[in-house]
Amino acid sequence: MDLDRVIRKINSKDAETVGLQFPEGLKMQATKIARRIEEETDATVIISGDPCFGACDVSDYKMKGSVDLIVHYGHTPLPLKYEVPTIFVEAFADIDIKENLKQCLDALKDYSRIGLVTTTQHLHLLNEIRDYLEDNGKEVVLGSSKSTRKGQVLGCNFSSIKNLDAEIFLFIGSGNFHPLGINLFSNTPVLALDPYNNELRRMDEYADRILRIRFARITKAGSAKKWGILVSSKEGQYRMKLAKQIKKTLQDAGMEAYIILVDNVTPDALLPYMELEAFVVSACPRIAIDDSQMYKKPLLTPQELEIVLKKREWENYQLDEILFHERYK
Ligand code: SF4
Repeated sequence: MDLDRVIRKINSKDAETVGLQFPEGLKMQATKIARRIEEETDATVIISGDPCFGACDVSDYKMKGSVDLIVHYGHTPLPLKYEVPTIFVEAFADIDIKENLKQCLDALKDYSRIGLVTTTQHLHLLNEIRDYLEDNGKEVVLGSSKSTRKGQVLGCNFSSIKNLDAEIFLFIGSGNFHPLGINLFSNTPVLALDPYNNELRRMDEYADRILRIRFARITKAGSAKKWGILVSSKEGQYRMKLAKQIKKTLQDAGMEAYIILVDNVTPDALLPYMELEAFVVSACPRIAIDDSQMYKKPLLTPQELEIVLKKREWENYQLDEILFHERYK
């Protein structure tokens, strides 16, 4: 948790009040960290109790005026302007992948140039994996971007793998969304290694299944005449300019469209809008894809709406991305 660095920073800034923000998986560490900070500095700690899924959601607006410094755990910084000085502390998973690597080598036997990709929690493993693959005769390629570290992808940003010349991607991490995104963005096979379950799987079948579900949602939304456009007030997800463009596009196509601003997009937040038949999500791109089963009405990404409006061919299906260096306001 890099507490020594955090404590040094708090002392050097003479911070009187410090905000701590954690993703769900690290919240159980919050009081332990707060205690140590209060013991070793003169600062009072305020723990953010809200959910936090990424560096798109630093609680600087909420904590502005209450704290002198925010310590945001678990994510790498994004190219955003923060209202309160913020330190990012990446939290790395304490796992051993040696046994998994032998399994990978077998699954990669037909490929020679491997793209290596992961999420924040496993960035520290990349050197070991690259060395292992290279020692076993593979060429390893890693990409980087303005929003991510070398070899890193976010659930909403796959810039680091764009135009990367790989025959297959090896993704290290849990869950399906990141490897699915890599597969759909690159049109290249993906082998996903989940070191928590010792599971190794190709993403082709899963990607096909998701595309079939998306096709069904898009078809269902095709008959909608009244739309909601969801904008999140989280700094890194706030794409109001895009939402206004979508509203105009829908109105030009003869539909009714209403922009709804929320902090967290949840099924409960949409309950009052019974009249609306479908929604476009300009907030986190994972919501429409990952959480779609939770919603009765179709939730589409902006690119999927283009398919509904016949401005994009289904063959040209693309996941939504947030390019953090662009202005969306
Ligand atoms: S927008 Fe979604 S995928 Fe992107 S960083 Fe935020 S929570 Fe993660």
